This record gives sequence, structure tokens and C-alpha cells, in this order.
Amino acid sequence: MSATDPDCIFCRIVNGQIPSRKVYEDDEVLAFHDIHPWAPVHFLMVPKAHIDSLAQVESQHSALLGKMLTLAPRLALQEGCRPYPDGGYRVVVNTGAEGGQEVHHLHVHVMGGPRPWLKG
Ligand code: AMP
Ligand code: ZN
Repeated sequence: MSATDPDCIFCRIVNGQIPSRKVYEDDEVLAFHDIHPWAPVHFLMVPKAHIDSLAQVESQHSALLGKMLTLAPRLALQEGCRPYPDGGYRVVVNTGAEGGQEVHHLHVHVMGGPRPWLKG
């Protein structure tokens, strides 16, 4: 897991060049609070290795993606989302320009907390 892009903002967060408010970290995944939250809880989960988007994932990434999706509910509760079914959260992966992706390093948004939200 060494692929890194020196011009990528999320690679720079992963390697500590840009500060972030960490939610979770292991050897392959970092989760941190979104700098412009849409919801009372809004954090991002990123692979530490640079992958442009969900459009680039291959079978070798299955375990990594499975880990991120499996982490989402645990971290959502940890960060204050209320439990399913009355609470819950949105899990979103914007992909490509028409998918609303602005940062081209694969990331999973997890948003939750009491409504109304700013967006979403
Ligand atoms: P997307 O539109 O799916 O590419 O979302 C990119 C997200 O990254 C946006 O919600 C931004 O607010 C968030 N973001 C951009 N820069 C930072 C940063 N330095 N720290 C935390 N979140 C960021
Ligand atoms: Zn990157």
C-alpha cells in the first residue's frame, strides 16, 4: 500500500502534510471529519493508497472496500449517529464529474445526525 500522489489533497492528509481531525486509522484506511460538513456527523473514509475513484477499483481492492463498508456503521455510531432504524446515516461515494466527485482520491462519505442537514 504505497501508491501516493504528491499533488493529491487526501494523500497529503494521509501522510500528515495537511492536518485532519481523525476518526479512525489502521494500516490501510484513514477516516477524518469533513472540513465542510453537510450534516451533524460527516466524516470521510479513504484508503491510504491513492486510488482515483470507485471507477478504478478492481478485484484486488475487494477486501479494502469491504473493510471500509464494514467500518462505516461502527464509526457512525462512535461519532454520534443514532442506531438503525430510527437513527441511521448516509454512505455515499461520489464518482466522476457527473457523480459530484471533487477530490480524486477514493473516499466514502458517512453523514448522519438529526435533520435538517445543510445538504443531502
Ligand atoms: P467529493 O465532492 O465527494 O469529492 O467530496 C470531497 C469532500 O472533501 C468535500 O465534502 C470536502 O468538504 C472535503 N474536503 C476537502 N478538503 C478537505 C480537507 N482538507 N479536510 C477534510 N475534508 C476535506
Ligand atoms: Zn491521493
